[in-house]
Amino acid sequence: MWINEPMKSAFIFSKGFSKFKPPEGYPWSVHRTDVTYQLCKKLNLLDHDWINVHRPKSAKESELHSFHDRNYLGLLKLANKGCFEEKWLKYGLGTTECPVYEGVYDYHLLAAGATLLGMRLISEGKYDTVFNPSGGFHHAGRDFASGFSYLNDIVLATKKLVDLNKRVLIVDIDAHHGDQVQEAFYDSNKVMTISFHESGKTLFPFKTGFENEIGRGPGKGYNINVPMPAGTGDEEFIWAFKKVFPSLVKSFKPDIIIGALGTDGLHSDPFSHLQFSNISYSEVVQEIVDHAKKLIALGCGGYRLENSVRTWSLEWAIMNGLGCSEEDTASFGGSFWGDGVCSLQDRHHFISDEVRKKNRRELKRIITAIKRDIFPVHNIRE
Ligand SMILES: [Zn+2]
Repeated sequence: MWINEPMKSAFIFSKGFSKFKPPEGYPWSVHRTDVTYQLCKKLNLLDHDWINVHRPKSAKESELHSFHDRNYLGLLKLANKGCFEEKWLKYGLGTTECPVYEGVYDYHLLAAGATLLGMRLISEGKYDTVFNPSGGFHHAGRDFASGFSYLNDIVLATKKLVDLNKRVLIVDIDAHHGDQVQEAFYDSNKVMTISFHESGKTLFPFKTGFENEIGRGPGKGYNINVPMPAGTGDEEFIWAFKKVFPSLVKSFKPDIIIGALGTDGLHSDPFSHLQFSNISYSEVVQEIVDHAKKLIALGCGGYRLENSVRTWSLEWAIMNGLGCSEEDTASFGGSFWGDGVCSLQDRHHFISDEVRKKNRRELKRIITAIKRDIFPVHNIRE
């Protein structure tokens, strides 16, 4: 997409994220941006003339009103002091997933501000690609927190882009279904949402993300779910992705793609039953990059920090065309590569033939349903 055009990329970085202190053992690491930035820096993935590092500011409360309920934001402000009232539980606040701690609102304002900064850098035409590792809170509802998510930065950024008359395609490859992103745009044909995730039969949020949720009214055919069976590995994920994503993106012709690049489908991750190595994530991200005029990439889930960080760094390399060529090998001074294989890249994770066949059958069934229910809406013939 950048052939003959100079590409511009922005990495959204702030040391400020790491200052927050959620309760000990909280799975969402506030250090993810810092650790990813440090690894990318070490591997010479930031020091190029088309790449800039941008420091985000916290989102302003007024920027949240396009989606979030004012009363809920009032509770978040109180929660920010670290105090807790039992009646907040019905807003999802004070649970194990969404604990209340000092600075909780400030952290999420900064994370949302980082995504909104990326959105502005893209919409103003200053960049082709932006990456906010601390973004992608796809479970946050209008007036409730859920699944580590308090403020829905994806919905906020998308709404703003739609106001600017941009066509937005959200592609979510996090292991969990982005239920509240689906909900926010379920009636809209201005936004296409494609989500690949572990099936709700075995994973949170359980009740949503099935292939028959295809949108409503004018939005019918603009919401696409590919629920993958527990145990799905690289080969089946890549196969399903290529069956669905390229045709839809070519037909919808988005101005901007938002990629929710969760890495919690890695086999090492404690929070899903998917069995990916980062080989599938890198192939899928390459596919997204190849089809994106402009890309806003967000870290989303990922709970075995070192493996998630390696994957996000590999994806950042791909977004910037820093692939496996000899030239790149030289520029990385050998640190990026080892044994002829990317040191950031995993080896394939073994999946038995029996499991692979079973999962392929289920995915074939889902893709058949998508081709039947979704493709005709967009005049896609296959
Ligand atoms: Zn997730």
